[in-house]
Amino acid sequence: MYYVDPHIHMVSRITDDYVRMARAGCVAVSEPAFWAGFDRGSGAAFRDYFRQLCEHEPKRAAQFGIHHMCWLCINAKEADNVSLSREVISIIPEFLAQPGVLGIGEIGLNKNTRNEVTIFEEQVELAMKTDELILVHTPHLQDKYKGTRMILDILQGDTRIKPERILIDHVEEHTIKLALDAGFWVGMTLYPLTKCTPERAVDMVERFGAARLMVNSAGDWGPSNPMNTPNFMRTMRDRGHDAMAVQEVVYENPIRFFAQSRKFNFEPPIPVRDPAKTHRTAKASGTHSTD
Ligand SMILES: [Zn+2]
Repeated sequence: MYYVDPHIHMVSRITDDYVRMARAGCVAVSEPAFWAGFDRGSGAAFRDYFRQLCEHEPKRAAQFGIHHMCWLCINAKEADNVSLSREVISIIPEFLAQPGVLGIGEIGLNKNTRNEVTIFEEQVELAMKTDELILVHTPHLQDKYKGTRMILDILQGDTRIKPERILIDHVEEHTIKLALDAGFWVGMTLYPLTKCTPERAVDMVERFGAARLMVNSAGDWGPSNPMNTPNFMRTMRDRGHDAMAVQEVVYENPIRFFAQSRKFNFEPPIPVRDPAKTHRTAKASGTHSTD
């Protein structure tokens, strides 16, 4: 079965990870701009990072038959430095026309500071001016609910925002409904220690249905496992969901969301169905989760 990992930081992964992912059915990835394992000291460092994301990493991925797309931004972790952030924001438009650049992301909040909010709003402004999709990082810390609420309030207070063009990532049980009810896409990040396990993610698919929902491994510089999207697929099958239901979450949904970008340049190896005709996995399983 084919899958897409819609949020994975391949610059932090070794080549063997591409090999394992390809063998497990990965045909495409999207890589949001993020922290690179250390705080960078200049705009020039970000220009090089954006070149790595837009030019180098797609070639590395292609050697293993994986199509690589990306997102550009200054991430929330480094956004507390307002002057550096503004320098980076001024560089982003140089890269926005490149093929496979899906939009602005992953922007959001980390510690919910005033500076992070300022830079989040300035990057939303850039996305509105340039008509880009947005990928949003919600905090991992104990302030996840508060940070998610702050982000949704900012987005919903902007009349230009079209929720179907925004992905709210790293949702968990206490934040998924806020984002889905407001019409956004959501991503569940399958980390080994924090965020969400494959089992909890399947619970949420069963509770909320598969529409506008995707999963990712976020493989990055912290404890993470690039094989967690295939692990989720196995867990979903073990819980009695059929292959088409799994395919909707791990293949069709990311492609449906990304295809809204005018720079989307992936040719899916099998067609993506009309969303109106797909299964609704909330009712597909006999092993329904508990609330
Ligand atoms: Zn990330």
